[in-house]
Amino acid sequence: MPSRIVKTRAVVLRARRLGETSKLLTLYTEDEGKLRATAKGARKPKSRFGGALEWMTEVQVVCYLRDERDLQTLSDGDALRAFPRLLGDLERLSLGSAACELIDRLTVERDPNRRLYRCLSGVLAGLEEVQGPQVEPLFWYFQLRAAEALGYRPELDHCTSCRLPLAGEWLWFSPAMGGGLCARCGTAAGGIRVAGDSLRLLAGLQALGAYQPEAIPPAPPRRGELRSMLRRFLEYHGGQHSHLKSLDFLEAVK
Ligand SMILES: [Zn+2]
Repeated sequence: MPSRIVKTRAVVLRARRLGETSKLLTLYTEDEGKLRATAKGARKPKSRFGGALEWMTEVQVVCYLRDERDLQTLSDGDALRAFPRLLGDLERLSLGSAACELIDRLTVERDPNRRLYRCLSGVLAGLEEVQGPQVEPLFWYFQLRAAEALGYRPELDHCTSCRLPLAGEWLWFSPAMGGGLCARCGTAAGGIRVAGDSLRLLAGLQALGAYQPEAIPPAPPRRGELRSMLRRFLEYHGGQHSHLKSLDFLEAVK
């Protein structure tokens, strides 16, 4: 069967113990997409992995890939970036964890998506850097970008039904229809009634070409509504396995 050695950057989405000395990892790699892999001996004190393979870090791995297998073998791993501030702050930690969970649940194995990889490594780096009030808007920005990279960009500027620009104090949002609806179409199509300002804030985030800390607006008053819109959208499009447990936790804390 075909097998090959690949060297790629990756984010550790999940890491758990395997036996006495090894690790079982779920990685989102830049070149190969999601992989499950074992790192033999990774928990030994003098392991060749040198403690690099920790949850929510960016690493460079060398992996022996075999097409017929769904569990691959890592032969090397070096730390590229750790995010210590993320681990020391409950909100940053919950959102970083939710970003990893979201990528894990919304992707299948061995389906590379470099844009999605950039979204993930970008949000972890951003959560490490931004000021407190920008933390949650940055995560919303990530959710919008991840949806786009996965091929289901929400429509936030025009009514998904009649195509008129979305204006007014109250509008509708429907994951099934793919985004915002005007007052007239929304009443008929169903979905959730939302403030026009919430849709416009998301449209503004979506229009940002690249993440820049100063471009992310501070969180507005209707945070619960914004959270719920994005979450419902991603869970709807992600299918039956996309329930995001990390966000349950965050909502309970807020
Ligand atoms: Zn309409």
